[in-house]
Amino acid sequence: MSATHVFHRSLLSTPPVAVKGEGVWLEDASGKRYIDASGGAAVSCLGHGHPDVLEAMHRQLDALAYAHTSFFTTEVAEQLADQLVRTAPAGMSHAYFVSGGSEAVEAALKMARQYYLEIGQPERSHFIARRQSYHGNTLGALAVGGNAWRRKQFAPLLVDVTHVSPCYPYRDMHPGETPEAYGQRLAQELDETIQRVGPNKVLAFVAETVGGATAGVLVPVPGYFKAVREVCDKHGVLLILDEVMCGMGRTGTLHACEQDGVAPDLMTIAKGLGGGYQPIGAVLAQQKIVEAMSKGSGFFQHGHTYLGHAVACAAALTVQQVIERDGLLSKVQRDAARIEALLQDRFGNHPHVGDIRGRGFFWGVELVQDRASKAPFDPARRLHAKVKSAAFARGLLVYPMGGTVDGQYGDHILLAPPFITSEDELTQIVARLADAVDAAIAQG
Ligand code: PMP
Repeated sequence: MSATHVFHRSLLSTPPVAVKGEGVWLEDASGKRYIDASGGAAVSCLGHGHPDVLEAMHRQLDALAYAHTSFFTTEVAEQLADQLVRTAPAGMSHAYFVSGGSEAVEAALKMARQYYLEIGQPERSHFIARRQSYHGNTLGALAVGGNAWRRKQFAPLLVDVTHVSPCYPYRDMHPGETPEAYGQRLAQELDETIQRVGPNKVLAFVAETVGGATAGVLVPVPGYFKAVREVCDKHGVLLILDEVMCGMGRTGTLHACEQDGVAPDLMTIAKGLGGGYQPIGAVLAQQKIVEAMSKGSGFFQHGHTYLGHAVACAAALTVQQVIERDGLLSKVQRDAARIEALLQDRFGNHPHVGDIRGRGFFWGVELVQDRASKAPFDPARRLHAKVKSAAFARGLLVYPMGGTVDGQYGDHILLAPPFITSEDELTQIVARLADAVDAAIAQG
């Protein structure tokens, strides 16, 4: 290919040209095929080229591609909001449509702030979030995110946010501590942090229900989010759950928080909402938040040009209808045990695999130098990038993550295959991954 004018992620090399997608497979211009075991970035829940979604998008395009939300709503946006509210956690009454995950997080942060202005608590202006988290790359989302590497260069531009411990049992649970006691300890840390910052100054606690892009699938311990919800309620602090990656069926229930028995005040969703067919995200909001705004200023002081884009809504509506119609959440729940068994079989006794964890079709493998001490590999070795390349060479797409800048946590591999992945394809994914991991470690 001639010199590129695309500002690619890496300015040192141009990636292969993707030309075709079909089911769980992607094909590049040379005809090489790849199993999309990470669904891109946990996006492609229905795989590629789903005929029902394509047809719905064509139909919508023929009728109307775009009408600005300051003039119009569309039938398809209304239908999608109805679908999302019907299936949302208790009390959530509205969906605010945006174009992706970071935009959803920005909107949620501003909703939280405006809510407290509307109800006469303007002194609340501080967010508490968690270390080892990711909420997006725009400045507000980056500020609440707790990934030291991503924040580092931009730190002077970020609003001040207080970060507490993530729920990371493999690393941080004390010897002899039960998961329940660990969850209570973390909730207590949040309580103490809110008290230190000043309970009347805190707007919201922001957390991914199941951590994704920073620490390779962090599954919360039982009772953690219930205890967090109680702490938030005690101080009148909103709970914002970021389900951009772990939501929309990825963990086997439509929303991951269903499995933790909590309903947030605001919830962000994106990736699996449109399944990659269109860029779309949303904030689901509790009735009390929308009511405060409608009784107050009557207006949410925010907005983007492409809110509620009709073709994006049509794609998302059909993706969600197909998941329901085809019983794909049950399939994800059923096959989760298969993925776990395959991973355990290949990696359970692997000298460099410290932890295998996940829910549904969302799995993380944590690589370590030494199993007994849990010592990570030297971050300078960039093992995660080597695994990604070795997997790519073997026709497998996985989502790698490096260790933390301080070397405290190690390299991870994240798997997030489409919900339609067959048993045979799951077996192939894990076999190719095992091969890639060994090859990458052997490279030194
Ligand atoms: N929140 C979470 C939990 C995410 O995983 C991501 C993306 N990895 C985002 C927000 C940002 O989404 P986007 O890349 O669509 O802006």
